[in-house]
Amino acid sequence: MNGITMKNNPIETGLSRRQWVGLAAGGLATGLLPFAGWADSGVTSLRSVKGRKPVTVASELATTGISGQRVVVVGGGMAGMTVAKYLRLWGGSGLQVTLVEPDALYTSSIMSNLVLNGSRNISTLQFTRDALTTRYGVVRKAGSVVAIDRNTRTVTLSDQSTLMYDRLVLAPGVSFDDAYGLTQADYEARTPHAWRAGAQTTLLRQQVVAMRDKDVFVMTIPKAPYRCPPGPYERACVVADHLKTTQRAGCQVIVLDENPSIQAERHTFETAFGQTHAGVIRYVPGVTGITIDPMTKVVSYVDALGVSQVIQARVVNPIVPHRATGSEAGGWLAQAGLNNGTAGRWANVNVLSYESTAAGAVGIHVIGDASSCGMPKAGHVANQEAKICADAIVRLMTGGQPDPQPVANSACYSPITAKTASWLTAVYQYDSADGKMKIASNGGQLLINGVPAVPTEAATVSQDNFKDMGTWFTTLMRDTAA
Ligand SMILES: Cc1cc2nc3c(=O)[nH]c(=O)nc-3n(C[C@H](O)[C@H](O)[C@H](O)COP(=O)(O)OP(=O)(O)OC[C@H]3O[C@@H](n4cnc5c(N)ncnc54)[C@H](O)[C@@H]3O)c2cc1C
Repeated sequence: MNGITMKNNPIETGLSRRQWVGLAAGGLATGLLPFAGWADSGVTSLRSVKGRKPVTVASELATTGISGQRVVVVGGGMAGMTVAKYLRLWGGSGLQVTLVEPDALYTSSIMSNLVLNGSRNISTLQFTRDALTTRYGVVRKAGSVVAIDRNTRTVTLSDQSTLMYDRLVLAPGVSFDDAYGLTQADYEARTPHAWRAGAQTTLLRQQVVAMRDKDVFVMTIPKAPYRCPPGPYERACVVADHLKTTQRAGCQVIVLDENPSIQAERHTFETAFGQTHAGVIRYVPGVTGITIDPMTKVVSYVDALGVSQVIQARVVNPIVPHRATGSEAGGWLAQAGLNNGTAGRWANVNVLSYESTAAGAVGIHVIGDASSCGMPKAGHVANQEAKICADAIVRLMTGGQPDPQPVANSACYSPITAKTASWLTAVYQYDSADGKMKIASNGGQLLINGVPAVPTEAATVSQDNFKDMGTWFTTLMRDTAA
């Protein structure tokens, strides 16, 4: 081990950067300034406060000797915002960082299941990226990347303008397949997956509100790996709880899982399905052959015993298979040859630096859900990958090598009802034997406050966990975007 001591704060990366210590001491505290507020839902919320004087942290930017280097970051989500911020903090003012992102506001998918039961309004999940510019000097460019030229080290944007880079960081998240007989137009208008928060989340909320006694809500879960392993099970719980507490009699939530079993927090969700929401949630693992008629909402599938089944649903929420954005046939990531992960869906990376392992992709890094690195596809993990990547780029630009033993951690909270939640946490460390990040449970090699690190889920769901969830989310978003 490299002597890293993990602190209690789950957002802290454990990277041994002098700059991080400075940030932890002062930056996070001042980082609270551009955001404030508690949502009327009772859940912690961050909102941009209009009219507040921008705070700059120029004095906190590191002095590194880097000069005239350009990093272009593609995608301003959980991974992209974090890497842009930390590249400037750790790389200093001589490192020019440009963030390319089409959407004016970031809408957090984290906590978006709480829109479905009315606990939150989607606007409480929306964040500006202004602090990246006003506090850290990140240059922002509105638009989408449509092509990468590896030879000239140039990206082309949707308006046909180009940007040159010395290093390129791709953080474009995921896009969703046409699947089960459905198209993108169906997701937008009739059968929302709502697996990237936004208009589809609001549509799904409206459909849940319109449910009547004895109506059936069917959701599907794709084969792993998919975005947010506990998220679909959490959604089933939140919807079931809402149907019960709003006195819709005889309604059912049917969960069709293409996986053989629950993929995260198994104890928590087995208890939730079998006890807390017994009689409302029906969990069906190991299904195949799902087809959905978007007009009639008839869902067909083959169960684990090979028997064909048909359900007449009122609401269908297909969490369809997804992939790194741009990795579809003809997509910009695929054209650049970067989708060398499973079945061309993800980007394989060297997890010491998040540099792509595709042939000839020197200087191109892929972070967040788009990459394949051994850790789950989650926002907290995206934040950690971004910091490891930023640290590695700064080391490389100053003549060093990436940290040979990175450590990352992940925390995840899942609402089980409108007032209670569970949690899951894990620490990951680099396994040099196969070059992957692995859960640190090997004989207490890694100690957190003297305790061996093992993946842990909450023993019980509780209201305290629900409150902690708000604090965790607020802290994560401040660290990412403020
Ligand atoms: C219901 C739900 C609940 C969740 N709960 C949790 C949770 O409790 N904890 C947790 O850790 N995670 C959770 N997640 C997962 C989390 O939201 C994702 O893992 C995280 O957002 C991934 O970050 P990312 O930066 O890779 O992608 P995103 O956050 O999706 O950001 C990708 C960005 O790239 C931009 N982009 C795409 N293409 C281009 C292009 N060509 N050019 C420029 N920009 C582009 C997009 O506009 C977007 O802003 C949840 C997800 C869902 C759906």
